Amino acid sequence: MDRKLLLIILDGVPWRNFRRLFGNLEGWVDSGEARVWKLRAVLPSTSASCYASIHTGVTPQEHGCTGNGNVFRLGHKDVFSQVREAGGVTGAVTHSYWSQFFNRHPFDYVRDIEYDEPESKTINHGRFHTMTGYGKANQMTPSDVDLYATLTNLCLRHGLDYGLLHACTLDSMGHRFYHDCEEMDHACFVADEMLAPFIPRWRQLGYEVIVTADHGQDERGHHGGRSPLQQETALYYFGDAEGPEVDTVIDQLRLAPTILNRMGAPIAETMKAQPFLK
Ligand SMILES: [Zn+2]
Repeated sequence: MDRKLLLIILDGVPWRNFRRLFGNLEGWVDSGEARVWKLRAVLPSTSASCYASIHTGVTPQEHGCTGNGNVFRLGHKDVFSQVREAGGVTGAVTHSYWSQFFNRHPFDYVRDIEYDEPESKTINHGRFHTMTGYGKANQMTPSDVDLYATLTNLCLRHGLDYGLLHACTLDSMGHRFYHDCEEMDHACFVADEMLAPFIPRWRQLGYEVIVTADHGQDERGHHGGRSPLQQETALYYFGDAEGPEVDTVIDQLRLAPTILNRMGAPIAETMKAQPFLK
C-alpha cells in the first residue's frame, strides 16, 4: 500500500455545526494541518443509504439501499474489498449496518459483534454496535471515546492499513434536541474535544485522516431529503495531498475512489466519480 488512511464518520453533522462548533478541527484548518471542504450527501440523505454510497461510490439508485429499513449485503465492490485486493488490512468500528453491507447479513449478535478474520475479502477486524432499542428517550450509543480507543487499539494490534470509524452520538442528539439549543452546542463541543487527542496520535502512526459525516440535519433534526442543511456537511482532511479549490462542493460519491487512490488500491470499475485529492 502507498499510504494508510483512517475515515472518521460522525453521523448527522451539518456543515454549519462542524464549522461553528468544532474548535479543534477548525483550529487545525487555521494552522494549516487540515483542509476543509463542503461535501454533499446523496439522495436519499438517509443514514444507511449514505453509508452504502460512501463506501461503494455509487448512488442509492444503483446500490439499492433505499433507507434504514432496507439493509442487506450489497453487491457492489467497496473500499474494504479494494483495499483487500491490494493486500491491505482493514478494520471497522461502526454501527452494525456496515458489517451487513460489506461483510455478511443478517447480523448475528454473537458471531458478528466482534471478529478477526485475516482471510476476509472485506473487513478483517470488526468491532460493532447495533443500537438495538434506539429511540429519542434512550439513545443506546457507546461513548465516542470508547470507539476512538477501539480503533486505535486495532491499528496498534493488527496494523490496519485502512480503518473506518462511525459514531452515531450527534445524529441521535440532533433527532432528540434539534439544533438550535444548548444541548447540541455542548454535544458538538464534547465530540470535538473527544476526537482531538486522537488525531495527532493517528498522524504519528502514519495515517492520513478524513473526518466527515454521512449527511447533515435540518432545524428539526431531520434528514433524508433535499436541502443544504440535510445534505451538506464538512470534510476535514489531514494529509499531504493537494485538494481542490476551497469553495469546491465535493460529491459524496468521490470519497471511495479518493481513499483508494491515496492508498494505492485499485478503484473499482463501478466507481465513476473522480478522486478529489492528488
Ligand atoms: Zn446518519
